[in-house]
Amino acid sequence: MNDIRPSTRWRIEINGIVQGVGFRPFVFRLAGEHSLVGKVENNPEGVSIEIQGAPEQLVAFLKQLKEELPPQAMIDSCEYHEIPLQSDNGFIISKSSHTQNATTLISPDIATCPDCLKELFDPKDRRYKYPFINCTNCGPRYTIVENLPYDRPFTSMKEFDLCTACRQEYEDPSDRRFHAQPNACHKCGPSLSVCDNSGRVQTDDPIALTVEALVQGRIVAMRGLGGFHLVVDATNEQAVSELRRRKRRFEKPLAMMAPDLDAIHDFCHLAKEDEKLLLDFKRPIVLIRRREKTQIAPSVVYDNHYFGFMLPYTPLHHLILRDNFKALIMTSGNVSEEPICIDNREAMEHLRDIADLFLLHNREILQRCDDSIVRNSSSGPQIIRRARGYVPFPIYLNKKVKAPILACGGELKNTVALAAGKRVFLSQHIGDLDNPTAMSFFEETVKHLKKTLEIEPELIACDLHPEYLSTKYALRQPLPFYQVQHHHAHLASVLADNKSGDRAIGLILDGTGYGSDGTIWGGELLIGNAREFERYAWLEPTKMPGGTAAIKQPWRMALSYLHKLYSSDISQYPQNLVREIGTEKIEQLLLVISKSINSPLTSSCGRLFDAVSAMLGICYEANYEAQAAILLEMAAHGSSELTSHHQEYRHNHKLVGALSVDKLIEDVVQSLNRAESVDKIASRFHLSLANLWISAVKAARVETGINSVALSGGVFQNLLFFEYLFRRLNEEDFEVLIHRQLPTNDGGLALGQIAVAAANQ
Ligand code: ZN
Ligand code: ZN
Ligand code: FE
Repeated sequence: MNDIRPSTRWRIEINGIVQGVGFRPFVFRLAGEHSLVGKVENNPEGVSIEIQGAPEQLVAFLKQLKEELPPQAMIDSCEYHEIPLQSDNGFIISKSSHTQNATTLISPDIATCPDCLKELFDPKDRRYKYPFINCTNCGPRYTIVENLPYDRPFTSMKEFDLCTACRQEYEDPSDRRFHAQPNACHKCGPSLSVCDNSGRVQTDDPIALTVEALVQGRIVAMRGLGGFHLVVDATNEQAVSELRRRKRRFEKPLAMMAPDLDAIHDFCHLAKEDEKLLLDFKRPIVLIRRREKTQIAPSVVYDNHYFGFMLPYTPLHHLILRDNFKALIMTSGNVSEEPICIDNREAMEHLRDIADLFLLHNREILQRCDDSIVRNSSSGPQIIRRARGYVPFPIYLNKKVKAPILACGGELKNTVALAAGKRVFLSQHIGDLDNPTAMSFFEETVKHLKKTLEIEPELIACDLHPEYLSTKYALRQPLPFYQVQHHHAHLASVLADNKSGDRAIGLILDGTGYGSDGTIWGGELLIGNAREFERYAWLEPTKMPGGTAAIKQPWRMALSYLHKLYSSDISQYPQNLVREIGTEKIEQLLLVISKSINSPLTSSCGRLFDAVSAMLGICYEANYEAQAAILLEMAAHGSSELTSHHQEYRHNHKLVGALSVDKLIEDVVQSLNRAESVDKIASRFHLSLANLWISAVKAARVETGINSVALSGGVFQNLLFFEYLFRRLNEEDFEVLIHRQLPTNDGGLALGQIAVAAANQ
């Protein structure tokens, strides 16, 4: 032995996102730099390293390991201990060990990295203009995985045999494509083809043909990473309105993709924070304040101050957009609210009447995954839809669950979750479970998650609502089940999102949820934690005339509130509403209300926004979910004045029970009579309602001594309401807990169900 320095050997166990992100090659290079020997291997929990050499080199190695991680890797825990010395011949990457009960983390799909992008547009590179270029730092992951471990034979790349050049890269630890499972090139990898409704179109250049069609204003269905997009030129009004007509999507805003930040800058007031979100490897759709006058076709977005933009995230996107378009509509390739199409044949069938042209490829998509949606707020980024780029990143609980749990989520914006140990894997956005295709997507996702995470649930959690399809699914399974009240799940979700196990005042505001007393809840002040809760205060229950019809027709809710204040005296009602709906229809509904025919009671906060929106003549009928409330918020943004009509409601007594909003409604009606501007009234309503809740929260603090307020529920997607409330609660020295990793809407419900079930396990 010529090495006389004393050696040490460590075993390092790393958990987190460390597979499929170039972690092992990174460790290999680092070991080389420090002249260390040993091995690295994937295991079911992450990566384990045995490393041996001079102690000071080991310390330096570990420091660099933590600080210079590959861009998409994430270390959740890193532990090491000394083990007996061994004799190694250098440092090796050993074969994956695969055992049962694995919970390996697969990485989410990652946007094309700068290195690959450079090669993509380099005429001298062998992958010049190759639409499927990728490396260990970028490319598809979650959407192409069929089984564990994350190795090529278990992905949809198994169809493609590596050519000699690609194999060399794949096997060379010093190469950027070492063990990049989707590695491919023109010669050996997936390829594009073009079809129209009559069949295959002969062309040498599918991209050029697609670009030409888009320039001519045609509608293209394009197979992407997590599914199909319907694509048109966003600056072509005729093309956009034709897409709306064919897709029967009349008013909901359409998402766009721009080639780069400069292009978006022309259309939006781009803040530094927006740029950061846009450039993130997750490449979500970011809602950004739009400029007044732009080249964007008017029918892309109606009555909304925001545009939804994302940047290209696959090589194909770059090839189509660069130098050709300033903005393309990229909306989900589906029929109205059905799940996004992923299969070539499925798309050609379902989208036949919508698309003129199909740009296809032959790398199968194994998991449908929509684009994620995020937005900046004064208190940080808000996730609105959590899907591509985020899934399957786990959320970590502060305590292990005793046995694996499956949570089935809610009904709208459904997601499901699987929990084992401290990790909760929330699925991608599945959507509204009101059609059979969505329900099969739901079941498919449960199956896929169970398989790829190798978690077999022993307990199933679901909503309390007996009619939710997710509840019915849960009750059909041969497993013990735990039903969680909807708003309790919201509270537990935001607590878990903040790793808090303490009791909190939960301000939970949303559209609908089944209450413990069988009525419909939705404007709730709860006190509790994941284990239990009590209902402390709520909005005074109001009739929903016609039941669910009142959700689609906000004018019904307006009448319900007006009837409460003015009985059937129509002369006192806002006259615009009377004119629009007509006295006959109004009188019919007033009869329904006064006789309580099919008029369930609700404490919903969402319905209150709907009612005011209709009273102000902003939205009588909703074309998509929450439209009335969104347009009310947009109107309020138009007001420069930020005042609350009523000063804080004072409650000297113990405040428990129903909160009346009569004064707020009265103010809306009287201000209309005084011909005050709608924008101003809308703005004042937002602030007055927030103040009503703040006074209730303060009363709860006095009574319970609890100082943390947890906010959850779809209403907090209302930026004006949320930001004002957040700021005021902070000024009142509350500790305010808000959603960080999950949406505040029902998309985050499954996490709460897991937390509640676990706390009661
Ligand atoms: Zn790359
Ligand atoms: Zn190749
Ligand atoms: Fe909800």
